[in-house]
Amino acid sequence: MKLTKTFVPTLREVPADAVIVSHRLMFRAGMIRKLSNGLFAYLPLGLRSFRKVENIVREEMNAIGSLEIKPTVVIPGELWKESGRWETMGESLLRVKNRLGAEFVVSPTAEEAFSALVRDELSSYRQLPLSLYQINTKYRDEIRPRYGVMRGREFVMKDAYSFHTSDESLDKTYEDMGRAYRRIFKRCGLTVIPVKADSGAMGGSGSEEFMVESAVGDNTLLLCKSCDYAANVEKAECKLDFSPRMSAEAGKAAAASTPPAKKIDTPNVRTIDELCAFLKTSSSSFIKTLIYKALNVELDLKAAPGCEGLKKHKSSPDSPETCAEAFFAVAIRGDLDVNEIKLAARLKASEVALASEADVERLTGAPLGFAGPVGLTKLPVLADITVTAMNDAVSGALAKDLHYKHVAYGRDFSPWMIADVRTVKAGDRCPLCGGELYEKKGNELGHIFKLGYKYTKAMKLSYLDESGKSHIPTMGCYGIGLDRTLASVIEEHNDEDGIIWPVSIAPYHVMIVPIKYDGKVKEAADNLEAALEKMGIDVLLDDREERPGVKFKDADLIGIPYRIVVGDKNLIQAPPKVEIKHRREKENKLVEYSKAAPELAEKIKAELAELNR
Ligand SMILES: [Zn+2]
Repeated sequence: MKLTKTFVPTLREVPADAVIVSHRLMFRAGMIRKLSNGLFAYLPLGLRSFRKVENIVREEMNAIGSLEIKPTVVIPGELWKESGRWETMGESLLRVKNRLGAEFVVSPTAEEAFSALVRDELSSYRQLPLSLYQINTKYRDEIRPRYGVMRGREFVMKDAYSFHTSDESLDKTYEDMGRAYRRIFKRCGLTVIPVKADSGAMGGSGSEEFMVESAVGDNTLLLCKSCDYAANVEKAECKLDFSPRMSAEAGKAAAASTPPAKKIDTPNVRTIDELCAFLKTSSSSFIKTLIYKALNVELDLKAAPGCEGLKKHKSSPDSPETCAEAFFAVAIRGDLDVNEIKLAARLKASEVALASEADVERLTGAPLGFAGPVGLTKLPVLADITVTAMNDAVSGALAKDLHYKHVAYGRDFSPWMIADVRTVKAGDRCPLCGGELYEKKGNELGHIFKLGYKYTKAMKLSYLDESGKSHIPTMGCYGIGLDRTLASVIEEHNDEDGIIWPVSIAPYHVMIVPIKYDGKVKEAADNLEAALEKMGIDVLLDDREERPGVKFKDADLIGIPYRIVVGDKNLIQAPPKVEIKHRREKENKLVEYSKAAPELAEKIKAELAELNR
């Protein structure tokens, strides 16, 4: 391809909103242009690399027997109402109406669409397992799209969905997907951190995220210095430095020598810091009690004491009973923070948030800052596991300017539920080996997830087994963001002059730069282009009438892995020569003109084979 025949508008300047390297370089190299906030168009050079990522993903999905289909991007809102996500997805779901007033969503993900398609065709166990995927446009109405295609509103995702008759069958597809994902990222030249996010609370279902390290990543990862434990902070656990007492009796026994709980006046003391100063104690001897509002709680709350939400209980004949809105008190050691994602998972809630000041006053009978687990009757108390080790603590006493001293778990209060809901931090201990955990920022490129019966049940999928009995299939889902993957490759492979593409997804493998594109030089450059293309190599020839300096600068910016410089001086040697340089290296190598194409083609093919191995 001649550079003047394609459309690569390179730039020297950087757009003001481009704060990360991939955004700057994709813009400057003429790969993308912005149409609007969070909406990007791929120009020819960008699209070539994008298609290569897409093909790697497609090859690996096909290799594990997943079948590509092409559903629509606009999905009937009815399906989202069936799954319940019409209500729970919130503002990030783009909803549209057609001229007849029918509601639709612009797909941010496609569990509903795939479930509906399979539902209509599924009748027998013989049709399962079934694994389907699409590589298609998605839309999420992000409040603050940023970082170029790394976090746009519109993006392309490969999303696969699988349906099974048994957990074993789901496990197998899930493992195949995990292996395929590792191959996809390796072939793209990417270093990913697979983050296991196995959550026991969700009934043994599993999930694994594939992260890349990024200073602007929207995930915090906790990694172990001594083993390969890696977890998203949303799920991370840590080794406890005490033995938890899971029964109230054990707590009571441990408090045998603790003086009785006693109310103390704490005038004008509201924050934990103020309280610690006032009582000359540390925050770790304080039981912090926070009031949370949870939405769409699927946990059975019938036995929960004082559950306000029961008033708003709504149930349907065939879905688990769901409590639309419920309040909880969460007690945790004062030096720790509640992890709201872990809390929502334990409550099987779609969302949790701190209750309003008015709700706190109504439910605890005290202004904000004086909640405590002792005597709290209007709310179920969920205690973080750290509280079970506390047998001489300070807590709020449910009245203004009043606290309790000598509070003991098991003796003075018995929580409704004990769970691990703390936010794990750098310096905490690894749950596997006890080593020290440290933090990294990461971006999620892919996610594989055992969904279980969540959608198949809500959307009424069923099949008949060998004896004619009806069953609900179990389901998995598996996504990869293609734009993010491409941008992440640039984040990992660049220098101050521009991109350094891995051969597997470089828009072109070779860039031919004639010093002056005419006469003998033109003839030699054209011949090299033709010879390489014949050998299956993608070639870009800079046929512009520009100074060599300008051409070299653009070549570095665009980042094509191999550059052949064709000039008079080297061509008149006997035998004639050209210069070959890898984008990563500083030095040129003189190669015989007649050998340049076959040697380079061989080298590139070997590199591709190595990445694809
Ligand atoms: Zn470890």
